[in-house]
Amino acid sequence: MNRRHFLGSTLTAAVAAAIPGAANAGSLLNALTTISSSLVAKTGAGDEVTIEEAALEELKGALRGNLLLADSEGYDKARRVLNPSIDRFPALIVQPSGATDVASAVTFAKEHDLLVAVKCGGHSFSGKSTCDGGMQIDLSLMRGAHVNRAAKTAHVAGGSLLGDLDHECMAQGLVTTAGTVSHTGVGGLSLGGGFGRLARKYGLTLDNIKSVDIVTADGVLRRASADENADLFWAVRGGGGNFGVVTNFEFGLHEMDRTVIAGDVVFPMERLREIMSFYADFSLAAPDELSLDFIAALPPGGEPGAVVIHAVWSGDHAAADKVLAPIAKLGEPVANTIGPMDYVALQRAWDDSDPRHGGDYLKSGFVADISAAQMDTIADGFEGHPDRGTTFFYQQSGGAINRVAEDATAFPNRNAENGAAVIVAWNEGVDRQPHVDYIRSYWSTIEKFTDGFYTNTGDYETQQATNSNYRGNYKRLVELKDKYDPGNLFRLNANVAPSKAS
Ligand SMILES: Cc1cc2nc3c(=O)[nH]c(=O)nc-3n(C[C@H](O)[C@H](O)[C@H](O)COP(=O)(O)OP(=O)(O)OC[C@H]3O[C@@H](n4cnc5c(N)ncnc54)[C@H](O)[C@@H]3O)c2cc1C
Repeated sequence: MNRRHFLGSTLTAAVAAAIPGAANAGSLLNALTTISSSLVAKTGAGDEVTIEEAALEELKGALRGNLLLADSEGYDKARRVLNPSIDRFPALIVQPSGATDVASAVTFAKEHDLLVAVKCGGHSFSGKSTCDGGMQIDLSLMRGAHVNRAAKTAHVAGGSLLGDLDHECMAQGLVTTAGTVSHTGVGGLSLGGGFGRLARKYGLTLDNIKSVDIVTADGVLRRASADENADLFWAVRGGGGNFGVVTNFEFGLHEMDRTVIAGDVVFPMERLREIMSFYADFSLAAPDELSLDFIAALPPGGEPGAVVIHAVWSGDHAAADKVLAPIAKLGEPVANTIGPMDYVALQRAWDDSDPRHGGDYLKSGFVADISAAQMDTIADGFEGHPDRGTTFFYQQSGGAINRVAEDATAFPNRNAENGAAVIVAWNEGVDRQPHVDYIRSYWSTIEKFTDGFYTNTGDYETQQATNSNYRGNYKRLVELKDKYDPGNLFRLNANVAPSKAS
């Protein structure tokens, strides 16, 4: 046993001896949370509710994980999400250690009619995974992926990040679709969609879900799969966090070579319109094993910016040159990094530089085709913004994603060839409004070319827009919301309001 391990174990043992029931380091935080009075919190409808000290003590006693109040160590880290401009203060935070704690938290929230936010990776652009005055269920203690090599499946805990999934699966020569930044949560990404470098080949992340364990609004842990609670299984695949807290995902996996041919080809901003036009044609004709992104980035301070084609070939290596040859014919780029790359390293490569990493305001929509008028509009209105700049990108869709029927899962947007997004970012302390206004007015010129939006990147400006985005699946989603969450306990998401909404 090394020294650090020894010290760690000794500390845990000392805590366990000193504090009855504290069997793990997580319980230390719980034990240090002092409950000295009642708590004023918010209900889902926005009213105030008082939670008595005894009730808090009882909740604390029921948990193996943590109960954090405003003065607890760890509260500030837990309440925050990736987007730094979201600054909310839950009345209480539960960090469950497993499904039983999740059930205790949900039951407590239901009994006290609390506003509930569920946090996995914290990547929600609009900050739905934190809240003011309610209960946040922060799943960060529930991480881990366990691969069954023979069955080609992975069981992934509900608070895991994409990096956990890729790391464990690829070590066994297996993989499933995941997003492009490794610290995105499996929870939010999978329940709302899951676009990524393998989606054209293997479908969305949610198309690869075989089952979930989910705590529904009545506090009951249920299994949902094609054979068990099949209606709930349909709803969670695209219905986001509307139906409960998923404590475990079971994914189907695919054999894949760990090395892919991938990289960025960078062009000067003067070639924006020409490269966009190339991308429009090239992406439409691409085989499923090729995944492309088109990125135009204008940095702050009037610097020239760049246009990037990000390409990932996950097919036969011998065919890569031929498939990627049209890019090579585009003339001398500023840079070209395409070459063999470890898939897991690729999946981490954008962790600090993805335009969405600091994406403080974003508008997005699906496009079925990239017309000349669309490209003109995008190119004409694209301007750099102070502070951290502006980014436009297309994330390629199509392929296997579109071969699933619109009503096979709750995720209906199966006709798009691309997701389009514009992002503006700014530094702390800067007035956000001019940047938000710019993106809204720029997007208003582009929106007419789009058909629906990705719920995982939406800002849910109106309930009507959210409802119609579920297209033909909306009616069935409301029926299932009535069945599984009639009180709309899980409302901080692309909300499907029950028919008797409060
Ligand atoms: C830098 C960055 C990169 C991104 N890249 C991609 C990408 O490549 N592909 C893509 O498809 N999307 C991408 N997204 C969008 C992403 O899918 C959404 O932001 C998604 O909501 C993130 O999930 P999360 O768990 O990190 O978010 P959180 O903020 O933790 O959760 C978002 C919502 O998901 C629900 N939720 C989360 N976990 C659970 C659970 N276990 N049970 C029930 N409900 C739960 C809750 O309703 C919660 O409000 C990206 C976002 C960012 C910020």
